[in-house]
Amino acid sequence: MAPFDPPALTLPGSPGAVVGASLLEQIAANVSDAMVAKDLQGRFVLFNPAAQRLIGQSAEQVLGRTERDVFPPEQACRLECDDQRIRRDREVFSVEETLNMSDGPHVLLTVKGPLYDEQGELSGTFVVARDITRRKRAENELRIAAAVFDSQLGMMVTDAQGVVQRVNRAFTRITGYEPQDIVGRNPRMLRSGLQPPAFYTDMWRQLRERGHWQGELVNRHRDGSLYHERLDVSAIRDEQGAVLHYVGSISDITREKSASARIEHLRYHDPLTELPNRSLLQDRLAHALQADSRSGEFGALLLLDLDNFKNVNDSLGHAFGDRVLVQAAQRMRRTLRAEDTLARFGGDTFAVLVEGLGRVPAQAATLAAGIATKLRQALEQPFQLEARTLSCGASIGLTLFDGDSEQVDLLMREADLAMYRAKEQGPGGLCFFEQAMQVELEARNALEADLRAALAAREFVLHYQGQFDARGRRIGAEALLRWMHPGQGLLGPGCFIHLAEQTGLIEPLGQWVLEQACQRLAAWAREEVTRDLSLAVNVSARQFRHADFVQRVLQALDAAGADPRRLQLEITESLALENLQDTVFKLRELRACGVGVALDDFGTGNSSLAYLAQLPLDQIKIDKSFVDPLPADPTSVLIVQAVLALGHGMGLQVVAEGVETAAQHEYLSSLGCDVFQGYLFARPVAQCEFLAAPAARLA
Ligand code: C2E
Ligand code: MG
Ligand code: MG
Repeated sequence: MAPFDPPALTLPGSPGAVVGASLLEQIAANVSDAMVAKDLQGRFVLFNPAAQRLIGQSAEQVLGRTERDVFPPEQACRLECDDQRIRRDREVFSVEETLNMSDGPHVLLTVKGPLYDEQGELSGTFVVARDITRRKRAENELRIAAAVFDSQLGMMVTDAQGVVQRVNRAFTRITGYEPQDIVGRNPRMLRSGLQPPAFYTDMWRQLRERGHWQGELVNRHRDGSLYHERLDVSAIRDEQGAVLHYVGSISDITREKSASARIEHLRYHDPLTELPNRSLLQDRLAHALQADSRSGEFGALLLLDLDNFKNVNDSLGHAFGDRVLVQAAQRMRRTLRAEDTLARFGGDTFAVLVEGLGRVPAQAATLAAGIATKLRQALEQPFQLEARTLSCGASIGLTLFDGDSEQVDLLMREADLAMYRAKEQGPGGLCFFEQAMQVELEARNALEADLRAALAAREFVLHYQGQFDARGRRIGAEALLRWMHPGQGLLGPGCFIHLAEQTGLIEPLGQWVLEQACQRLAAWAREEVTRDLSLAVNVSARQFRHADFVQRVLQALDAAGADPRRLQLEITESLALENLQDTVFKLRELRACGVGVALDDFGTGNSSLAYLAQLPLDQIKIDKSFVDPLPADPTSVLIVQAVLALGHGMGLQVVAEGVETAAQHEYLSSLGCDVFQGYLFARPVAQCEFLAAPAARLA
């Protein structure tokens, strides 16, 4: 009991009623509410044990002092205001207030009022305060919980047996079930049957052991449709650790899933035809090889290239070409069995993977050839598109495999080589990969390794072939690549350029040519005889398509200190038209810097003139195949005349390639050809010989 001498106190509202101090003391000592009384000067005269516990100070520390001594100033000021109000109004009132204590804020429900002495005179004030902090917190938590429960996440609370007790609105939205449909039942009713029983056994085991499970599953909506959900379940336990409830939160991830499925689909499929792409085919091929090595059965890989497709594309436009490809794909798909894989490798190349062709090689080959024939026949049927009828044959290369020591990469090369041979046979060709080709394949593999080594060993050189104007003066040269093969001597690009392009080696090789040519130009600029010469460099598609191509050219010029106006890049028609937009963009940039552009081998690419007119060019080079039959062959005469008229009409210089005879030269001169290149004037020679050659040749 508080050691103080209590004044005689009077209950509020009943002036004059005397209450024994001992009675008050007993109550004050035992109630859980804080009881405090102050005299008219605001000094504490009663401070019961509950008040001491609440404030954290003993009666000795507090009695006889004022609120200003006990509370921080701002709080004390607020409490004094209440006292003034009581002294003025003499009324009892209750208020909910928050006081900061040493252990943090406490919410109090307080009753405050006046105290009177025996004469009925106002003698002080009292406060009875109940600490409701915990109740308040619980209320708040309930409110938060209710808000959470009504969040976007679907929520479900079950009892310890898994019987649903409550679900929220989002749950209904996701599952289609209203609370009355599911409360009192087991969430098993949501199951789609797509997860095996072991899935649930595992889930419950984890819940028991760790009290938590998280994962993704497919459930069935009330309307029967399936949806993907991410489920998060936690066990709620009592103090003894017994499970009271399970709380599950559910988010519908069906859209997320279908978006990622779409991305996955795109990664492995060709967007135009929706067929598997090269990666997926390679994957399946790898599986097939494994399966076949177990079963001992043969399979076949077919590579198929549409004949004349480039013509369709060039003459009727890419959009039309795309529709032909889609139809071709559909036809082939219908020809094949469901378990065969038909893939598109881009462009007009398709691949087919067939398995289960039996254990006898000859039979397997016959079956595979049969499939190839059916595919070709399907494609040969005329296509009906926009009132046009066109037909499209195919060249097909085939290779068989039986899973024994075969590799995906090797098989692809075999099929590729076979297709290459098929194309050489003319439209509609069909060719099996044979052992004889194996020799060639090995030679190609060896050549590839040699090429790589040659680049490192600096076995490449540039030769230069002069270009002459109508008066026979040498005005420039074309740089032509040669390989000084340690065993085979000097090799022309015909022996290795194609392979370098296929393997990507053309990129470092082409870069080397570019740098070398720029250095040569810079050196020529320093010599009287060569100062005015320009130099043409051949560029291959893969090199040109590189995003940095323009920068690379400019860097090479810059590094060598060469004049861009003396450099001429030679591109081919097929390169230019493969991606017209990119080509035009890059050529414009290059020409803006002074670099010249020539269209090489003109006339061999069957491109439409409409496209060519869009290319920013300086020169066109008439291909040797049109120069050769001049002047006797009337068709060539017509073509050359047309090219000259077209070129001059577009303000371009026209170069004749492969001029070998005086008659050719004479005839071309008479038609107004601007530049001549050919053995008649000069052969491609090494740099030193080029310098020694006469600067003018009057043929
Ligand atoms: P191209 O650009 O059309 O080069 C002209 C080809 O015709 C050269 O063959 C040249 O030696 C040959 N030629 C020139 N005049 C005559 C002639 O009067 N009669 C005969 N029979 N042939 C003549 P080469 O050097 O074998 O080059 C062949 C092709 O290789 C070139 O054709 C070009 O497309 C490519 N090439 C050459 N060097 C490079 C290079 O550095 N990079 C790239 N990407 N390709 C190159
Ligand atoms: Mg060329
Ligand atoms: Mg050429």
